[in-house]
Amino acid sequence: MERIFTDPRCLEHAAPPGYPERPERLRAILDRLRRDRRQMVESAAGADARPAVEALHDRRYLARFQRAVERGDGLLDSADNPLSPGTWAAAWGAAEAAVAAADWVAGGEDRQAFVAVRPPGHHAERDHAMGFCFLGNVAVAAQHLIDRHGKRKVAIVDFDVHHGNGTQHLFESRGDVLFISLHQYPFYPGTGAASERGRGAGEGATINLPLAAGSGDEVYAAAFEGTVLPALERFAPEVLLASAGFDAWRGDPLGGMSVSEEAFARWGRWLRRAAAASAGGRLLSVLEGGYDLPAMPDLVSAYLDGAGGV
Ligand SMILES: [Zn+2]
Repeated sequence: MERIFTDPRCLEHAAPPGYPERPERLRAILDRLRRDRRQMVESAAGADARPAVEALHDRRYLARFQRAVERGDGLLDSADNPLSPGTWAAAWGAAEAAVAAADWVAGGEDRQAFVAVRPPGHHAERDHAMGFCFLGNVAVAAQHLIDRHGKRKVAIVDFDVHHGNGTQHLFESRGDVLFISLHQYPFYPGTGAASERGRGAGEGATINLPLAAGSGDEVYAAAFEGTVLPALERFAPEVLLASAGFDAWRGDPLGGMSVSEEAFARWGRWLRRAAAASAGGRLLSVLEGGYDLPAMPDLVSAYLDGAGGV
């Protein structure tokens, strides 16, 4: 059973001219999902993301972020993180939609949620904004599943073309969250070498698959079949999460990979199958990057069809 989670606040984070992470990305995806009559939850109002957000992010950072928006600052921490009057609300709308999806996924078997939100989250660090990201949406969903729903083990597969530095750093010292990232390397943000494998109790629970620029479906398939899927089988997560970025697509203006639309459907099928093996079919995917506006609705639809929506 598939359900899409979003929130209207996500469109209120405005972008300066020429900025790739803009409201139109999400608007185009949502228009398509509605037209396809997918099951939509259009508001996350009432979902309580605060405990998980505060467990993961530094409170001083959250206060600084809120103050910067209220003051009318133009940027937070980096040139990649422009602010608008709606940015604080949009970041919370995204985190709350992730929590609403987690609540739904935890509530029964064979549930596949897709969280269609922005700003994205996987570059957000504990105490600073980075790479279009402010709050770690997928990390918030994982933390919420552990704290609120008693899950002991969750896994996150990040197939955005960029390394999910924020998600990795939030969980790298813990053994209860397996983080696996496939990404172009060397590339932004510079992290994600294969030697980054987690620390202390988290040793081995971080798996990085750095891939050369230009990699296509076959290279990704070898990484999924050779490493990602066996690691998920060994770890046996109780819920499987995905950081679903679509910027490894061959037409993406920011990414340098050559992945086809069909590959996203295949990845969806593989993740669905992995979720069925240990997690009762519970799969929670959160939108990250993907900047080829005309292609985005098709890429997301292909992934959802693979993950079992239709
Ligand atoms: Zn990305």
